[in-house]
Amino acid sequence: MDYYPIFVDLRAKPCLVVGGGSVALRKTKALLSAHATVTVVAPDLEPELSHLAEQGLVTHLAHPFSDDLVLGKFLVIAATDRLEVNTSVYQTATKQGCLVNSVDDPKRSNFITPAIVDRSPIVIAISSGGSAPVLARRIRAKLETELPKRLGQLANLAQKYRQRVKKIFSNISARRKFWEMTLTGPVADAMFRGDSPEATRLLEQSLTSPQKPANGTVGLVGAGPGDKGLLTLRGFQWLQTADVILYDRLVSNEVLELARRDADLVFVGKKPGCHQVTQEQIIEKLINWARQGKKVCRLKGGDPFVFGRGGEELEALQQAQIQYEVVPGITAAVGAAAYSGIPLTHRDHASSVRFVTAHCKKSLDCLDWNALAKEKQTLVFYMGVAKLETLQKELIRHGLTATTPIAFVENATRQEQRVATGTLGTLFSTAERYKIVSPSVLVVGEVAKLGNQLAWFGVKAGNTIDWQAATGT
Ligand code: SAH
Repeated sequence: MDYYPIFVDLRAKPCLVVGGGSVALRKTKALLSAHATVTVVAPDLEPELSHLAEQGLVTHLAHPFSDDLVLGKFLVIAATDRLEVNTSVYQTATKQGCLVNSVDDPKRSNFITPAIVDRSPIVIAISSGGSAPVLARRIRAKLETELPKRLGQLANLAQKYRQRVKKIFSNISARRKFWEMTLTGPVADAMFRGDSPEATRLLEQSLTSPQKPANGTVGLVGAGPGDKGLLTLRGFQWLQTADVILYDRLVSNEVLELARRDADLVFVGKKPGCHQVTQEQIIEKLINWARQGKKVCRLKGGDPFVFGRGGEELEALQQAQIQYEVVPGITAAVGAAAYSGIPLTHRDHASSVRFVTAHCKKSLDCLDWNALAKEKQTLVFYMGVAKLETLQKELIRHGLTATTPIAFVENATRQEQRVATGTLGTLFSTAERYKIVSPSVLVVGEVAKLGNQLAWFGVKAGNTIDWQAATGT
């Protein structure tokens, strides 16, 4: 090991920053966040540093560096853009036995600063020993996405209970087991969703009645339309930590592959018209697993609250007194619009957008066709492929012209995405001609024609339908 990693207590320690530019500012702020007493020496300061000096948060010495300034300093940072100044700072400081770092110059440093993931009091420091800082930063970015924001609060809670837990579990392995369960189970889940009182209550409960395991939590998580890059960070964290994942037919394989290796993956897909697992059975499974103390992820295509029956599942969980959390996802209409280059609103063409379900006969009957056939709006139909004739007939009967542009986006955001554009008049024939299949959304409105012009995804890969043929242009 070229460098020995340590965490240093800088509270009230005298530190010196040489330089007054943006690098000096960055370093000064880092030292201040560790409660150091900072002196900055530089003839001039950049505005934010000078503001810190005016507020009395740092001492500013408005003159060039001189050797005497190092005396009595615990740590020194050379942050000027002049090599000779940094060299002289380094030489003087090492002579005095100070810790000294010249920014981005390991040769003139006796310590280097790592890339940091700060979830205080949990702090992770990453270093490549100066060999590849970019690599260290990439590792940091990865950890930043994977570690929950409130990890530090969980650590603080554990700190508060340390002594008590020690008294209750005098045996060290029992104590370790207790903490392992607590810091990965429902207590952690409650803290991560921002409910610190509940986290405390659950911790108390597991101390007072340790034999009864607390209920697990259910996450109703939106998986987005397919492209794994569209999953939210929170959704990703759920996939990485859930014990059981119940997923729908519309969840893509690439999203599922992000699940923790040892999670149980349970398919509860429902195909239109042939319901293998009923909604009641899904709800029952969610509740049973949660009651066994498991962390259960209910993973749904798109967004769980958009035509996803998410509301019903939450009502049942609430009745069963199971804690839950909802993680939004990118809904099919939004994903399809972005990946086909069809803006849902546009100053010239549409000032509002409606997401409509064309699921079954009954739902078509209750649609307000007059409202749907208004101009200057965009309609996006979900689950509509089987009902095109009715859609076409009703929209035209209620006032939309047969020349209104339309676009089908099939398998939106996935590698196999296809887009077919046409007009309301050719709606049915366009779908037939290109054999549009589920899952697809149908966009109706002036904006649909922009797909021809603004397409970017899949075009080069040859996945898009031949535009000329599709539009008849
Ligand atoms: N909750 C989901 C919608 C579920 S309803 C969401 O927010 O997206 C199922 C319908 O969504 C499908 O019939 C189809 O119309 C649409 N859909 C879902 N994923 C899609 C995709 N990748 N491409 C096109 N349409 C999709």
